[in-house]
Amino acid sequence: PAATTTAATSPQEYPTSHEPISKPLDTQNFINNKLEASSGSQWIDLYDPATANLVTRVPQSTDEEMTRAVDAAEKAFHSWKATSVMARQQIMFKYVSLIKENHDRLAASITLEQGKTFADAKGDVLRGLQVAETACGITTQLPGQVLEVAKDMETRSYREPIGVVAAICPFNFPAMIPLWTIPVATITGNTCIIKPSERDPGAAMILAELAEKAGFPPGVVNIIHGSAKTVDFILDEPRIKAVSFVGSNKAGEYIYQRASANGKRVQANLGAKNHAAVLPDCNKNHALNAIAGAAFGAAGQRCMALSTLVFVGKTKDWAPEIAERAKNLSMNGGFEEGADLGPVISPESKQRIEDLIASAEKEGATIVMDGRGQKPKDPKYAKGNWVGPTIIANVTKDMRCYREEIFGPVLVCLNVETLDEAIELINDNEYGNGVAIFTSSGATAGRFQKEIQPGQVGINVPIPVPLPMFSFTGNKKSIAGGGANTFYGKPGLDFYTQQKTVTSYWRSEDAIESRASVTMPTQS
Ligand code: NAD
Repeated sequence: PAATTTAATSPQEYPTSHEPISKPLDTQNFINNKLEASSGSQWIDLYDPATANLVTRVPQSTDEEMTRAVDAAEKAFHSWKATSVMARQQIMFKYVSLIKENHDRLAASITLEQGKTFADAKGDVLRGLQVAETACGITTQLPGQVLEVAKDMETRSYREPIGVVAAICPFNFPAMIPLWTIPVATITGNTCIIKPSERDPGAAMILAELAEKAGFPPGVVNIIHGSAKTVDFILDEPRIKAVSFVGSNKAGEYIYQRASANGKRVQANLGAKNHAAVLPDCNKNHALNAIAGAAFGAAGQRCMALSTLVFVGKTKDWAPEIAERAKNLSMNGGFEEGADLGPVISPESKQRIEDLIASAEKEGATIVMDGRGQKPKDPKYAKGNWVGPTIIANVTKDMRCYREEIFGPVLVCLNVETLDEAIELINDNEYGNGVAIFTSSGATAGRFQKEIQPGQVGINVPIPVPLPMFSFTGNKKSIAGGGANTFYGKPGLDFYTQQKTVTSYWRSEDAIESRASVTMPTQS
């Protein structure tokens, strides 16, 4: 195979269509600020989800390559942590500006490899960019505390970097999620190993290239590739001190346990089943538009996608009106003008989504709108992984389509009579990532907000993903470890730093006592 990356070399060179690539290039490792071809023998073919054309081959990085990446990160850590915070901040400013310059190129790589529309891919990049922008404010975010404890005595607290940290990323936000780690980990003085999803590593490769251009020294940002073997390497490598994971419960629960058992810090965001309660007094047009957008945007492949509707009272008659809105959405290749949703990530994912729709039908739910068998007209998309917007009504809690995360453009709708029942139903669900309520009553919204368990609540807002000055606060089964370590914001800085306190006593008078005190010092 040719030994260059899929990443284009200038900001202008990026795909703008789903045409076949005449010579797909292999994805490379990024170690010590250098792209290098993997010498591995196992490769993962990556196909454009809209066309099934081969885009690149992703290596299973070898043990030697992965170890060398950690060697590089460990070596870089000693000088990087000693670099002045002002110098790190200057590099972050430059990184932000390079991400902005390369915004379209990053988004194009996402549309090609992941399938989401170009406009949506730009949002994926922007949400990550905002984390990098916020990291630029580190000089006012990182200061510790100082207390004059007594005459001549004070205690100061510091936050120090922890060392080499790793991120294991999912397929659905190829830029945003690597950017939940790179800026926060590096600005606080750590060095990092990123393992992008083997299904769409292109954006992470561009982010690594931009890190080098921004002035990060060799070894501060490194990328290795692969699937479970690479994950196990990360979990077992003693020099990696912390692991950030975003992805499914199946992988995440295993990763949380194994990394924790190996003494590492872990932050792990997992799957979801996000509900919206729709009250009869809501602003109906706003609610229906917001719901259709949040259920079917990104083909439902967002961890905060609004996948489950709880109709309260007479709103249960509104499903056909959501279907009317869904019918106006254009499912097409992500580079096509006016495309609203693209394909799902893989043929296996498409099959799974269709099986779940079939199971709902079999279990007695009503298929109001059926996306199975739909695809764009253009024959070049004939082999893509298409599933059109689907609405399933009269769903009950015991049905498979309610119990499992679908992760496709499928909205399941349940009916209840009262707000109390809606709250009880939502709190009964084992996931707790996001939730929304649509109502015009402040009192109703206030009660809902207080009593509801999911960690990110939208009031007339369908996808309440917090900006980076807050933190991503999923709850229950949607976050491992009881939510102690959340991504970005102040908790993100805490995750990537170790606290140190220094108590000092600079006695201003000569000591006159002649006897040592042996009781526990209480400083009082
Ligand atoms: P995934 O769990 O299949 O993959 C995520 C990462 O784990 C990948 O890098 C993959 O290589 C690795 N992995 C997969 N299976 C593994 C295994 N058996 N052992 C070790 N490593 C393994 O997830 P995905 O399909 O890429 O992403 C979709 C999932 O991510 C959904 O469940 C979605 O809800 C979740 N997600 C959650 C959030 C959040 O913040 N809560 C954000 C985005 C995505």
